Amino acid sequence: MTLEAAIQRDREDLLASTRQLFDLPGDIIYLNGNSLGPLAKAVKYRLKEVLERQWGEDLISSWNRHGWIDLPLSVGKKIAPLIGARPDEVLCCDSVSVNLFKLLCCALNRERSRQPGGKVNILTQQENFPTDLYIAQGFSELMGDTGVELVVAAESDLKRQLQEVSGIVLLTQVNFRTGKLLDIECMTNLAHEQGSLVIWDLSHSAGVLPLALSDWQVDYAVGCGYKYLNGGPGAPAFLYVNQTSQQAIKQPLQGWMGHKAPFIFSPSYDPAAGIRQLQCGTPDILSMSALDAALDCFAEVAVADLRSKSLALAETFLVSLWSNQIPNSFSLISPVSPAERGAQLSFSHVSAHAISQALAEQGVITDFRSPDVLRLGFSPLFLSFQQCWKAGNLVARTIIEKLYLNSRFELQNRVT
Ligand SMILES: *Cc1c(COP(=O)(O)O)cnc(C)c1O
Repeated sequence: MTLEAAIQRDREDLLASTRQLFDLPGDIIYLNGNSLGPLAKAVKYRLKEVLERQWGEDLISSWNRHGWIDLPLSVGKKIAPLIGARPDEVLCCDSVSVNLFKLLCCALNRERSRQPGGKVNILTQQENFPTDLYIAQGFSELMGDTGVELVVAAESDLKRQLQEVSGIVLLTQVNFRTGKLLDIECMTNLAHEQGSLVIWDLSHSAGVLPLALSDWQVDYAVGCGYKYLNGGPGAPAFLYVNQTSQQAIKQPLQGWMGHKAPFIFSPSYDPAAGIRQLQCGTPDILSMSALDAALDCFAEVAVADLRSKSLALAETFLVSLWSNQIPNSFSLISPVSPAERGAQLSFSHVSAHAISQALAEQGVITDFRSPDVLRLGFSPLFLSFQQCWKAGNLVARTIIEKLYLNSRFELQNRVT
């Protein structure tokens, strides 16, 4: 491929116009939408409206007048088609970490009702995102040695373990370091054959990968609002509970917003029907409104088109990169086969941190994952083929000419 070919692809790109929906500095190539999605123009207008008119003028009446109270459900309904769920299977609330805890409780309660008194296994993967492991560890400690056993399998051993261990399976579809995909449908089937329940973390999946949670009969799932969904820093997360599993929701974070009638102020807890009982406290209206507006960017697009564009962008980057003489010290750690990876490419290099910093100075925003990973996200809503082509050459030049060898690139910030 040549630069002209990249320009031609931009002309033919079905999603070329969605870039206009975002407020991105013109001179920046933003390959970090997998970590913090950019600001959509609609979010800017919505936040101004929510601040000035809703909160500012309509004050407390906004809970009813502007539908604030329904946002967790209405935002959940907007997320549902992106993950192949039914509208009443998704709720927007809390962070991924807190949602994982609540769903682990639900799954444990269901397992216990099937096998009273028995110890319940939680099978997870060693390479999982740390918060998933930390929450599972804390949950296991709380339940005690006799209640729960945490089984941490290596990614390569996961299929075997799924066929041997029965209990709760807690997995993340996209490996945050390498981008490697797990097959949700296949692994969910394997787990179900053992009588296990599954919880999938879709943080690096929602908004870029075609998902069919209802069809795959996934029991529970969680996902992130601030990555490919572009909800803004710290945007609330979402959770999904399959319709059949909703009969048996039981979790201990019984906040008043999960009550059947919160404004009756009854002294005893009586859960709302369906997914709403997984809501705990008052929703974060400013953040949730931002996510709500950001989700409108997906209204006119097909997830299959998002997937094929993000793979094509990554391929353009790779062709451009490999057309240079790249030293072996910089190597792709993502699967070579596009079908086996999410919307990111990761490379290892001992100076990955300095490379990421040197690229930022040239307007190419990537991120560094300790200890030696340079990670690039290919968000299909706002990146162009021309930008990915250019980024491939800039990364190549930075490595070949060792532009990262400068002490100012060594300084590590608290957030990388
Ligand atoms: C980003 C991410 C999270 C984020 O969790 P929060 O509690 O919302 O901060 C969780 N899991 C995975 C796999 C992630 O990539």
